[in-house]
Amino acid sequence: MKYNIAVVAGDGIGPEVTEEAIRVLDRVGERFGHTFLYDRKLGGGAAYDETGDPLPASTIEACGRSDAVLFGAVGGPKWEKLPGRLRPEQAVLGLRKELGLYANLRPVFLFEELADASPLKHESIEAGLDILVVRELTGGIYFGPKGTDTIEDGRVSDPVLASCIDALSPPPGDGRIAYDVEVYTEREIRRIGVAAFAAARKRRNGVVSVDKANVLESSRLWRGIMEELHEDYPDVKLEHMYVDNAAMQLIRDPNQFDVIVTNNIFGDILSDESARIAGSIGMLPSASLADGDFGLYEPIHGSAPDIAGKDRANPVASILSAAMMLRYSLSLSKEADAIEAAVKAFLENGFRTPDICVDWSVRVGTREAGELIANYI
Ligand code: NAD
Repeated sequence: MKYNIAVVAGDGIGPEVTEEAIRVLDRVGERFGHTFLYDRKLGGGAAYDETGDPLPASTIEACGRSDAVLFGAVGGPKWEKLPGRLRPEQAVLGLRKELGLYANLRPVFLFEELADASPLKHESIEAGLDILVVRELTGGIYFGPKGTDTIEDGRVSDPVLASCIDALSPPPGDGRIAYDVEVYTEREIRRIGVAAFAAARKRRNGVVSVDKANVLESSRLWRGIMEELHEDYPDVKLEHMYVDNAAMQLIRDPNQFDVIVTNNIFGDILSDESARIAGSIGMLPSASLADGDFGLYEPIHGSAPDIAGKDRANPVASILSAAMMLRYSLSLSKEADAIEAAVKAFLENGFRTPDICVDWSVRVGTREAGELIANYI
């Protein structure tokens, strides 16, 4: 079979780790008789430098007509002073919006060979670590109405703020003011809930829905809809947890969680927290899924400008993202298993990139790590 994959490698270590994922995919193609065709497109700072736009229309179009997107990472100090709409991050935010990628799946696991890399006590992770964070990706406070204004003589011109400042106690006084609004619709909550319950059925049948329903109206809607959905999934256990407690429980006893489902901002924070307990940020993949099989796959880390171009980046997160792509978008689970087994073999044989290196291990660079993993396929 032939598969069309759009590749947006991006900036910093993005191109380095993505090339290794492609090397491994090519080996999978040879072994299993598939052809992966890559359409490489610009995105992020690299695209801004070349075209003046961090997400050119040609990139959106190529991603839209592909079977799946393999994404590297975008951003870096070079572009930090640009105004918001021209910043490299627009590439990933824009693609999520344009391609309808509303469900972000982040598996959090710890290879037993790397147990020492987790900052958690051994007893908390003795039984391993295997959580799936399902984060809503296109709604909530990141995309709600937002604005800034200046209060002069107790008044502002922005109509949303004007209706708010009367309610502020004590009165705000003059000066600058800004707002961001958390908005969720029933449709948005329902579809992410379905994604979480469906994922739980393929795992250990547990969903913890994380919200702040004691304070936020949008969280009360969220909680109510999760309860309604639960009626369709009676075999799945549903629990609710406030986000502050969830942040604490993840450190205290991570194995109480199977699937965590939460909104955009809480998911952003909790998934990074979970990643840290799994050892290095260089190990964890992610999928951002639309309705149907289409998805964008990327490592959870950023462009790591501090190590870019030094052959020090760990390509495993990117390689495992390619495995997720095979499983979720291309329905090639045997091939995905082969990639995961190859990564395990690489670690079992003592190979480590600098971020996870220990005294007795064999230190390898980005490229050698990719070659070794490809050879274990
Ligand atoms: P980062 O993830 O790039 O780096 C954090 C730390 O982890 C750094 O010390 C880095 O060297 C290390 N690290 C990251 N990936 C690694 C890997 N594969 N192997 C070994 N070490 C690795 O986060 P940051 O420093 O906060 O952000 C750098 C840039 O990346 C910023 O411009 C940020 O906006 C961007 N960013 C992009 C994305 C994305 O493209 N989706 C995500 C997060 C951050």
